[in-house]
Amino acid sequence: MKNEENKISRRKVIGGIGAGIATLAVTPLIGNAGAPANQKLGYDMEDPRVKFPKPPFKEQSQPWPGLASQMNPRPDHGETSYRGSGRLKGRKALITGGDSGMGRAAAIAYAREGADVAINYLPAEEADAKEVIALIKKEGRKALAIPGDLRDENFCKKLITEAVAGLGGLDILVNNAGRQQTRPSILDISSDDFDATMKTNVYAPFWLTKAALPHLKAGSSIIATTSVQATDPSPDLFDYAQTKAANTSFVRSLAKQLGSKGIRVNGVAPGPIWTALQVSGGATMEKLVNFGGDTPLERPGQPAELASIYVQLAANDASYATGQIYGSAGGGGQP
Ligand code: NAD
Ligand code: MG
Repeated sequence: MKNEENKISRRKVIGGIGAGIATLAVTPLIGNAGAPANQKLGYDMEDPRVKFPKPPFKEQSQPWPGLASQMNPRPDHGETSYRGSGRLKGRKALITGGDSGMGRAAAIAYAREGADVAINYLPAEEADAKEVIALIKKEGRKALAIPGDLRDENFCKKLITEAVAGLGGLDILVNNAGRQQTRPSILDISSDDFDATMKTNVYAPFWLTKAALPHLKAGSSIIATTSVQATDPSPDLFDYAQTKAANTSFVRSLAKQLGSKGIRVNGVAPGPIWTALQVSGGATMEKLVNFGGDTPLERPGQPAELASIYVQLAANDASYATGQIYGSAGGGGQP
């Protein structure tokens, strides 16, 4: 009987999960054709605990801002895994920090969902950016590389002008670039340090959003990358955590302001994600070696695991989501 079979297989599948991944991987749970149960049922299941690398990680450090291509292991930005389904067809997106990390994962996903994409990054990151541009072009989408330093207001204005001109408009702005440098004490944070963190994380989104707004029509989306640091700050990220609280308030306030214009504003709050920012001064070596190990999933996230959130927040079917912060933190921290 079909119903009875379903009940039994469901019970067995649940048992398999309880027994851990080894059981799932080697035991055909139903049927006798030798195919794993999940294939038989016509869907894929992946165990989030073992899907990506776990600590301990090798000690490593790079000069800021770091390159994803030089990390060990290399982060997964969805290069070989993200599959699109036309969710952002014809859209025009600008993503800051689009060369690596969450920005790169969003850029790849947006292109595969049918969007044209401009990315901004620092000139030192040209090698990472070239890989992203090639991946966007491979999807047959327009790809714009606009390097430059976001701490400069004039450059921020120029970035929007160039993105609008090159893409033929703009309807998704992802304020994702960020600066994070670990310092044991407030006494170790120089005024230059503090200024650089504020300029990159707080002023740049303000300047970019002001410049972009006249170009954004109803249906457009503004997305911020904030952090669990906004609500659960680490002692060694004193300046950075304040900027992430500011990013979260940016989203909640601006969403109220722009609701009447039909422009949605949302944020993504990652937990510990394996990116260049962490190996170029963002984390102590001690934290890096055990990175993500203290989350319930016992590993850091990979940028690829957040790509679908950036897609969802920009897509038409999330039309009632504005002023929201979507978290992805392996069970640790709150958005
Ligand atoms: P990343 O280093 O890959 O990306 C950050 C990008 O910011 C860089 O690639 C760089 O292009 C850009 N950037 C920094 N300073 C700049 C400047 N002055 N001008 C222009 N571009 C500049 O690291 P990531 O972790 O993907 O960071 C993306 C966002 O995610 C940041 O806002 C960061 O605060 C946030 N975040 C990261 C984590 C994490 O654990 N990795 C957790 C929570 C939030
Ligand atoms: Mg980078």
